[in-house]
Amino acid sequence: MSLIPFDDRDGFIWIDGEMQPWRDAKIHVLSHGLHYASSVFEGERIYDNKIFKSRKHSARLIKSADILGMEVPLSVDEIEDIKRDLIEANKITDGYIRPVAWRGCEEMGISSRGTKTHVAIACWEWGRYYDEQKREKGITMRTSEWRKPAANNAPTQSKAAGLYVIGSMSKHAAEDKGFDDALMLDYRGLVAEGSSANIFVVQDGVLKTPIPDCFLNGITRQTVIQLAKDLNIPFEEARIKPEDLHNVQEVFLTGTAAEVTAVGKIDDISFTVGPVTRQLRDAYESLVRT
Ligand code: PMP
Repeated sequence: MSLIPFDDRDGFIWIDGEMQPWRDAKIHVLSHGLHYASSVFEGERIYDNKIFKSRKHSARLIKSADILGMEVPLSVDEIEDIKRDLIEANKITDGYIRPVAWRGCEEMGISSRGTKTHVAIACWEWGRYYDEQKREKGITMRTSEWRKPAANNAPTQSKAAGLYVIGSMSKHAAEDKGFDDALMLDYRGLVAEGSSANIFVVQDGVLKTPIPDCFLNGITRQTVIQLAKDLNIPFEEARIKPEDLHNVQEVFLTGTAAEVTAVGKIDDISFTVGPVTRQLRDAYESLVRT
């Protein structure tokens, strides 16, 4: 990971209608989004100058905001144009792009109807989330004490900043114990996802993934399910209990940042980086660059 702070770089950031020099893209400390987590964001990957599934991400940003009662003052087409200009202005070939929308300073307090929705988009060169060695052996995960809330306890289908509080805490707790990532169970105690990626398992040749009823149905998740169907890999959405992990042979994560990442270990259970994971990882790698 780069040690250059994210506010001290060269380039341009689009903010509220203007392409600003990177270091000038600032907001006021009394922004509602900072105090009350009235903020939604996207994470997208750029491959060969082009964003993979760009329109889906733009649509999800608008939907995430809408779920929180915020109106993004831009259409999908307008967001697409801004992202294209921004990638060109920053000369990004392979990287990451981060749109964010938040409530501004016009009001402070729980009631925030008077606030405007502000939008910024930044992008930077970026490579793999995990290094080659980890990719080969599979990453390690530790089950978090925090549980993903039910759909009537949090806006779970929004990529809302506030939902990431337990993700960060869980990842830190995992890293403190020498693991790479956290496995999040849901409020029922079922396997849900990683800290920022969906999870799949392979049991006796059948690909399985939890039903996304209290976490994001990731764009990568949907892409990998389609790839599995195209490759005639038996697939089902399933309720996966933590003890079921003793009976699976392969585990992998999917996410824009993580792409398809093999998992070698969850707590004290080991898995192989097996044929289904490799096949889907290769298929995903070639799809993102077509
Ligand atoms: N779950 C969480 C909590 C995430 O942050 C992400 C990354 N956006 C995902 C799943 C995977 O979503 P996607 O494939 O759309 O990146």
